[in-house]
Amino acid sequence: MEQGANVALASLPGVGPVRSGKLAKLGLERLGDVLWHFPLRYEDRRRVFSVREAPEGELCCVKAMIAQSPQLSRARSGVELVKVKCVDETGTLNLTFFHQSYLRHAFSPGDTYIFYGKAERQGRGISMVNPLFEKEGEEKYTGRIVPVYPLTAGVHNALMLSLARLAVDQVAPGVEEVLPLWVRQRYGLCQQEFALSNIHFPQNFEGLESARKRLIFEELMTLTCGLAMLKGRRQHFDGLQFSPHAPAEFCTLLPFTPTGAQKRAMEDIFRDVTSGQSMNRLVQGDVGSGKTAVAAYGAWAAALSGVQCALMAPTELLAEQHFRTLSALLGPSGIRVELLTGSVKGAGRKKLLQELAQGDIQVLVGTHALFSQGVAYHKLGLVIADEQHRFGVAQRGALAAKGGETPPHVLVMSATPIPRTLALMIYGDMEVSIIDELPPGRTPVSTYVVGEDKRQRMYGFVRAQVAAGRQVYLVCPAVEEIGGGEEEGQTSLFPAMDLKAVTTYAKTLQEQVFPDLSVGFVHGKMKGKDKEAIMSAFAAGEIQVLVSTTVIEVGVDVPNATLMIVENADRFGLSQLHQLRGRVGRGQHESYCVLVSSSRSETARQRLRVLTQTTDGFRIAQEDLRLRGPGDFFGQRQHGLPQLKVADFASDLELLNQARQAAQELVEGDPDLKREEHRPLRRRVEHMFRDNPDIFH
Ligand code: ADP
Ligand code: MG
Repeated sequence: MEQGANVALASLPGVGPVRSGKLAKLGLERLGDVLWHFPLRYEDRRRVFSVREAPEGELCCVKAMIAQSPQLSRARSGVELVKVKCVDETGTLNLTFFHQSYLRHAFSPGDTYIFYGKAERQGRGISMVNPLFEKEGEEKYTGRIVPVYPLTAGVHNALMLSLARLAVDQVAPGVEEVLPLWVRQRYGLCQQEFALSNIHFPQNFEGLESARKRLIFEELMTLTCGLAMLKGRRQHFDGLQFSPHAPAEFCTLLPFTPTGAQKRAMEDIFRDVTSGQSMNRLVQGDVGSGKTAVAAYGAWAAALSGVQCALMAPTELLAEQHFRTLSALLGPSGIRVELLTGSVKGAGRKKLLQELAQGDIQVLVGTHALFSQGVAYHKLGLVIADEQHRFGVAQRGALAAKGGETPPHVLVMSATPIPRTLALMIYGDMEVSIIDELPPGRTPVSTYVVGEDKRQRMYGFVRAQVAAGRQVYLVCPAVEEIGGGEEEGQTSLFPAMDLKAVTTYAKTLQEQVFPDLSVGFVHGKMKGKDKEAIMSAFAAGEIQVLVSTTVIEVGVDVPNATLMIVENADRFGLSQLHQLRGRVGRGQHESYCVLVSSSRSETARQRLRVLTQTTDGFRIAQEDLRLRGPGDFFGQRQHGLPQLKVADFASDLELLNQARQAAQELVEGDPDLKREEHRPLRRRVEHMFRDNPDIFH
């Protein structure tokens, strides 16, 4: 028989072809796979109770003696059941087993067993249904901490337990140590074998904790090593060399003086695009930090270098706004900026595509449509993706493919709903510029959480703002847009109003609440042209109160708007609310954000209060991640990282930081992990990235 990790599960006694087929569904084919199939949770079966002490309604171990031969009977439904009466000095334990009639021969009076099951009070004794049992003196899975595995139909925990036992005994001792000694010493990590043994069968919870810590660290370090190696490779790509047009020259076109952080980001881009190597840069900055100007510099530099720039936005609304901004900024220098979205159709589209292919258009702004079939560039030199977290990593590759022989430079602009470390992981192959400075003269947006009882006062406040010449956003979550549409796919904690309800509410506001004000309504299902008409009316100040669904979440810029009201605010993630709030406080006027929540849940209110306490996008993102977890955080979007087994981005940020640091040091000294002592780690990295084997050389 084969030894160790490679033993096929099908060849093991008690498995057989049917079960091995089911195990394969869990990704388990060999004994080595079982070793890395970690428990979901653990049951503490260390304490064995007497009948009297057994905690009511809880899973627990009770030791008792079989008092009578088991009785087989048949329930009215026809189901066979076996009843067994047991006793100890303190009372009676009555057992009922369903669907296991063979058990009538299993128990002999006088034998003592440990039973594990849910204890229900029954007179002076207790009862259990279908408990696990082990004979006294032969305990393997009672009287200790027992793992519970992810299961599937036909694979019981009992089977997993015996396989895991085998894997830990036979495979774990031979697993190579992947973490160098200095890493283990510096970060206080236990050895591989101890970790693998304790993650399955912990001696105690301290042992489990140190096993978990070590395995999480190992996983994160493998991941970050892989990303660092990937990044190292990227830097060697040849890129288009732009002609040297420095940021200072561009800044004379801006209607304001750029902040130091904006200038630094532009300098970073300048260095990249003139280096002869391909740029792959992430510009990260909170809402309102002025990323558009940085993007515009890139577009301008591309145009002056005789190549084209494509700027991709996540929504049509945002694309239209960028189009207006860039046209105004670059148009006077003779740079032609055009807009391409799904709404540009027919003859207009055909003409536009023709001009694009001929190179008559220098900057093309749009949505995903920019990279759809039939869109051919003359010479694409720069791709800018705005608010990238809505696109996902996978799409980056697709963008670059449009460039022909030399891939275009890639610039990604992101607000920061992603905590820094996490962002660095997801964008691990990119250089990062951080805009950590807001333009001067911004007053922080005063934020309030209010209940239904304050509604009339709130409407009064809307009037006061409008009377002072300002404008107001009023956002309602609509179910079609939350989690629905491709463009505004958002995640939410709660179901939201349907679009009809939102439409009705907008009408009520106009007709009954603010008949004397000009109220507009915009939602994601409207035609692009209609949306644009309303948005430009709002931008021009013709609409005073703009009721909308979440379409305005990202990027919209109307400095005269000073009040943001969010209805049913508890239905949004905190980062999303932070983005919404970023729509106000963009001019010199004092600005406000009112979060309306009728939720009586104290945790929901508490969550919202985070926004009243801080305007730091990073902190808010962190809190969001903590409260909602990365699954919700990213929604359905692919973030493109390999699947992790034990680590979890939300709770393991501290370890993530340490692992990154260790990985960086390691890769700096040995970029390809070629040294003898790094070979095991390299093999682990290759295994983790096995779906993209081509990324390493
Ligand atoms: P975001 O980073 O959220 O995309 P924007 O680029 O939309 O931010 O900029 C927000 C607002 O701030 C815009 O009205 C823009 O014109 C203005 N702005 C950007 N940079 C500066 C600056 N350095 N000084 C003054 N206003 C600025
Ligand atoms: Mg923006």
